[in-house]
Amino acid sequence: AASASTQKKPVVERKPDVKYQKLFINNEFVDSSNRSTFEVINPATGDVIAEVADGSEKDVDKAVKAAKDAFRLGSEWRRMDPAARGALLYKLADLIERDRAYIAALETYNNGKPFKDSYNVDIPHSIAVLRYYAGWPDKMNGKVLPISGDFFAYTRREPIGIVGQIIPWNFPLILLCWKIGPSVATGCTTVIKLDEHTPLTGLYTAKLIAEAGFPPGVINILSGDGPHCGGSIVRHPDVAKVAFTGSTQVGKIIGAEAAKMVKRTTLELGGKSPNIVFADCDLDTAVEMSHFALFFNQGQCCCAGSRTYVEEKIYDEFVQRSVERTKQRKVGDPFDESTEQGPQISHEQMDKILDLIDSGKRAGAKLLVGGERVGDKGFFVQPTVFCDVNDDHRIAREEIFGPVMQILKFKTTDEVIERANDTDYGLAASVFTKDLDKAIVVSNGLRAGSVWVNTYDNFDPVAPFGGFKQSGLGREKSEYSLDSYTETKCVTMKISQRNS
Ligand code: NAD
Repeated sequence: AASASTQKKPVVERKPDVKYQKLFINNEFVDSSNRSTFEVINPATGDVIAEVADGSEKDVDKAVKAAKDAFRLGSEWRRMDPAARGALLYKLADLIERDRAYIAALETYNNGKPFKDSYNVDIPHSIAVLRYYAGWPDKMNGKVLPISGDFFAYTRREPIGIVGQIIPWNFPLILLCWKIGPSVATGCTTVIKLDEHTPLTGLYTAKLIAEAGFPPGVINILSGDGPHCGGSIVRHPDVAKVAFTGSTQVGKIIGAEAAKMVKRTTLELGGKSPNIVFADCDLDTAVEMSHFALFFNQGQCCCAGSRTYVEEKIYDEFVQRSVERTKQRKVGDPFDESTEQGPQISHEQMDKILDLIDSGKRAGAKLLVGGERVGDKGFFVQPTVFCDVNDDHRIAREEIFGPVMQILKFKTTDEVIERANDTDYGLAASVFTKDLDKAIVVSNGLRAGSVWVNTYDNFDPVAPFGGFKQSGLGREKSEYSLDSYTETKCVTMKISQRNS
């Protein structure tokens, strides 16, 4: 890698060309069957930036047929050497890297996240995830089993088949790669539906998938709405597994629908993650990381640290420092280099956030900074901090998915573990302390899929991610994700004589 001094700054295109607006089926861009389209909005301005094909049930049928043909016995995909599947993922990662500045600009233009985050976080992480999965195909061994009697038995890890995948708008490219990676690594074929707010980087990646040389039908990418396009994928009888990321509410609908045909299902849903700050922490780190844990990505993270529990002894100082930090947070044009916070994704999300802020005020939590919309153009919300929040306030129980921090006071370790776990969610949690014993005891006591100690949002591809309780089912990234894309087959053969 180039050193900081030799690294060239990317040329940033503030209005990147939108090059692909159609459905990607069989490695070709096609109109939707009824030629209908929907508008894609720039959340920083509210302007329409593209008209994108609106995939219908008919289009889902077509895409699933393409995926089925690609998966038929003897197909190019089924006959391909495992390492060659990995090479395709490496190639795709290289192409994303080649076009990093353009894709980052397109992500910011469509999603509103600061360009410096798109360029330094979303695109590099997407590349890292693809490269991680690229190494797996030739390392997924079966086993020879010590079976009793005159038999020979072995297991094979076979691809589940045609996978249906549905993603949300908060990390459009990253979540696309979280889905493509395990599907390709295990030899499945897939139909992916992008979120209707943010289809642009996914459709551009479709072009790179064709350029990388994936056989037609292995990855099909659709834009379209939830209930019709997404629902048709979930209900399609040829789709053997559904992988969904989004709200808990929709996850329950999808899980119930998929269960009717005993489809394999993985769900990555919402959260209300506790962030526990003990008095013996490094306060500078805890204040900065707690701020990051909540405000990163405009607060639109499923794993946002949205219940900040602070030990009584340092509560006042922590609150004061967090408010100071939040007042400095720069909100504005996501293409400006100094911007830390862009707009929320939509008018609807902005209204939902403002409504929850109101509920906090009415319930008696203390609003210390923020609380309002910024300007009247685009969907910006002021960075907001509440203290004196009670566990039963809506802002302490419901997912806000916006830049609103809740600070709560606690006295003892046992008390805070119990309060932290008193939620239907269980996606992530964190602990800030210098006491090793406390870090381990509290981490082990928390009912959450990811626990971060003295850090937050570490998303290395080797680490599994997923929820306890109503935050989800199954794990993504890491070797644990591979099990949910494979079936284990056991082959048992009668032989004339078994010897030890
Ligand atoms: P959403 O659940 O409404 O939408 C997510 C996706 O599901 C979109 O592609 C949408 O078109 C599709 N969809 C909606 N209804 C559907 C249906 N009936 N059948 C099939 N597909 C359908 O989510 P949202 O409100 O747009 O996004 C925010 C939510 O997503 C938050 O609650 C957040 O917690 C959650 N989220 C979770 C994770 C995670 O990894 N756990 C990541 C990002 C977002």
